[in-house]
Amino acid sequence: MEIDKRITGKTGLTGVIGYPVGHSISPQLHNTVNKLTGADLVYVPFRVEPGELGRAVSGLKAIGIRGFNVTIPYKQEIIKYIDEISREAALIGAVNTVKNESGRLIGYNTDAEGFVRSFKEETGTGFKNSRVLVIGAGGAARAVALKIALEEADMIHLANRTLSKAMEIARVIRDNTRCRTECSDMEGLSDGGIIREFDIIINTTPVGMYPDIDKMPVDEKLELSDNQIVYDIIYNPPKTRFLLKAEQMGCRVVNGLGMLLNQGLAAYEIWTGRQLDGRVRDMLFTAFVKYFKRQEGFA
Ligand code: NAP
Repeated sequence: MEIDKRITGKTGLTGVIGYPVGHSISPQLHNTVNKLTGADLVYVPFRVEPGELGRAVSGLKAIGIRGFNVTIPYKQEIIKYIDEISREAALIGAVNTVKNESGRLIGYNTDAEGFVRSFKEETGTGFKNSRVLVIGAGGAARAVALKIALEEADMIHLANRTLSKAMEIARVIRDNTRCRTECSDMEGLSDGGIIREFDIIINTTPVGMYPDIDKMPVDEKLELSDNQIVYDIIYNPPKTRFLLKAEQMGCRVVNGLGMLLNQGLAAYEIWTGRQLDGRVRDMLFTAFVKYFKRQEGFA
């Protein structure tokens, strides 16, 4: 029998806290990255019961964790328990990555960074001077919209079922960036014409996600043109009904897998100070596309 030497007395600890965490893909992602890069780190899921976040964070600090991710439902609440927060995470109002710097916990938001990296990699373009429609106004929308505004988009239209949530994100954008904003509820989008005004359309709602793959976040009768880019942050199915319709109308379409992988890679870079080279990134992306295709329930 061979001795397993992957974890030794010197191995650094990283992980994810959330409730639940059983569904998280982050352990597979980070441990694969560690293996590919030879980083002496292990990544473990920590299920933190409601009401236990403060004690869990003190415990992780006490045992010298290198860093950790934060997932639902703690991305906002964690801010109370850390020592410092990046400007971007403060604007977004959510932290998904924490680095332990000699006992000081610093919070970041790599969901936003992961989204922008994925968008740029997969479309070859950015947001400067663009007109963007963001559908939804939940946690992911807030990260995505703030980041796009910081990337100097000209105008962001936020459309959400609950209008007040869209208006709140718009207020933060206006108070902190030069980006113009508009808001509407979903009925405000039902005039198909309005949707053609945007260079980029991003769905941040779960509408169309497995198993409800026949649903669309916007009217079925929408009309799009081939100079528009449509990004759906859902990655299961790999092409939502919304993306399939947009593709039929000639749009460039992108799903959320790149966002998911890039937020993890950005966290790895924060913890280790190391950048992944292009070859490692490509291997990882190919491996995860295959991995998801084999998953049960992955449409
Ligand atoms: P959230 O905070 O719960 O927000 C959900 C948003 O979707 C809200 O604006 C909500 O509207 C809207 N919504 C939900 N159901 C709807 C429906 N039936 N019709 C119309 N609008 C609806 O969730 P989140 O954290 O932002 O996550 C949203 C989605 O993004 C999920 O599918 C999640 O898996 C995905 N996501 C992907 C990544 C990635 O890396 N690719 C990262 C984060 C999240 P109301 O405000 O009116 O309730």
